[in-house]
Amino acid sequence: MAIENIVIVGGGTAGWMTAAALSRLSESRKVSITLVESEQIGTVGVGEATIPPMVEFNQLLGIDEREMMAATQATFKLGIQFANWGKRGDNYLHPFGSYGYHMGGIAFHQVWHRARQEGERRPLQVFNLETIAAFFGKFSRTQDYQRDDLPTMNYAYHLDATAYARFLRGYAEKRGVTRREGRVGDTTLDPESGDVVSVTMEDGAQIAGDLFIDCSGFRGLLIEQALETGYEDWRHYLPCDRAVALPCGRDDGSGPPPFTKAIAHSAGWQWQVPLQRRNGNGHVYCSEYMADDEALDILLGNLAGKPQAEPNWLRFVTGRRKKFWNRNVVALGLAAGFMEPLESTSIHMINSGINRLIAILSLDGVTQAQQDAYNRLTDKEYRRIRDFLVLHYNATTRDDSEFWNYVRTMDVPETLTEKIDLFKANGQIFREEDELFNETSWAAVMMGQGIEMGGCSPIAAAMKVSDMKGEFDEMERSIRFLVNHMPGHAEYLARYCPAP
Ligand code: FAD
Repeated sequence: MAIENIVIVGGGTAGWMTAAALSRLSESRKVSITLVESEQIGTVGVGEATIPPMVEFNQLLGIDEREMMAATQATFKLGIQFANWGKRGDNYLHPFGSYGYHMGGIAFHQVWHRARQEGERRPLQVFNLETIAAFFGKFSRTQDYQRDDLPTMNYAYHLDATAYARFLRGYAEKRGVTRREGRVGDTTLDPESGDVVSVTMEDGAQIAGDLFIDCSGFRGLLIEQALETGYEDWRHYLPCDRAVALPCGRDDGSGPPPFTKAIAHSAGWQWQVPLQRRNGNGHVYCSEYMADDEALDILLGNLAGKPQAEPNWLRFVTGRRKKFWNRNVVALGLAAGFMEPLESTSIHMINSGINRLIAILSLDGVTQAQQDAYNRLTDKEYRRIRDFLVLHYNATTRDDSEFWNYVRTMDVPETLTEKIDLFKANGQIFREEDELFNETSWAAVMMGQGIEMGGCSPIAAAMKVSDMKGEFDEMERSIRFLVNHMPGHAEYLARYCPAP
């Protein structure tokens, strides 16, 4: 059946990102897009840290970066600093971008390992631009220096996701998306096909559609409550199931650092996300090992800034819908599944779900093969990201609480065990199935949390260290040169995109 009416249920970050992206479809063909949301229900009200593909998402929509950043109090993000994960007192940065560049066709960390065997003393981090810029609180976009001989800067944003949804609402409404305020009370299914025919608002109005996008948040109004798709629970791998969030003012006059902080505590971890005028703070924890009041006390004892609001308490079950696309409903955002924001992947998964949907969707009618491909590819994305998150908990020597004893000794997915074994053997990291995180990401977290390479690849082993030294020196020099000439992050923001 041809798709002429698309109905999006939910107007959080997922709903408005979807509406904005799909509004581009109607540029080439007449498609009506309606978004239903309820101010009374509201949105989840958290979600501030993103990863680099979001820059491309905005570019594809033709969004002006400065305008978007000013409207969302955004700052630039070069990576995530992890403290107390491998052991207490430790800290490392998981940077965007790469360590060095491929030499002789192999990953830089391999070549570096070879050089270490013959006396190279510089840490791997000095060969990553984002790490050095983050360390000195500097920032610049590649477009600003326009020199091909210097490394490019990879970045993402910290932003107010509620303001981002508002910004995208303006974008989508301008391009013909219709917004309906109100609460969906009921869903009507076709008795023969089982497809969703329409949603009924509490005032009795019916909104019919050919394709429904469920962006209704954790409740999964269509995908779960109406279609009973089922949920795969992953709490045995990622046992944290609660969070308390508390936005704070940045009143100490300090500029926002260009990175997120993720600080591990005794039964979970805390985020600190710097926006232009406030800091996002929150504590993700496991209710089996920590009571709510203790979680709040820990957060209050480690706040960046003074609280600006009442604590926002959240409960979640880590996992995924058994199908992301079921009948004529596609779930995006929290309705599709949830993994804690340790690597800021949720908003990204909305983005990649939208990209996949637009690539697969045909408006003349959807085949089973298209739905199956969407589900298979999304499933792979979820599993690979899950493995990466599990690594953070499992690669630790922490034994100071029952929680850490559990995660350190738990069974992990075989796909992760293999990844760790390959890295331990000779530093090999295969980026499998188009997975999100690259060699640098895996190497940063594994080495940052104490997993050592037992050797390096035979090609690296055959390299002459004397031949590499000049290239290492040049890499380090160009990174230092660039960072020395960059403005401070706060100064850059003040010039580029100050929030009104
Ligand atoms: P919601 O924001 O819950 O929106 C649901 C929408 O559905 C609302 O508009 C609501 O009104 C509407 N709705 C629901 N029921 C009805 C109804 N019956 N009738 C009409 N409308 C209805 N992601 C990141 O990428 N980075 C982060 O740093 C990050 N941090 C997070 C921290 C925590 C503790 C949590 C829980 C999540 C975090 N996330 C993060 C995830 C991020 O918040 C979400 O992915 C993102 O906000 C998308 O949410 P959503 O739009 O799917 O759901």
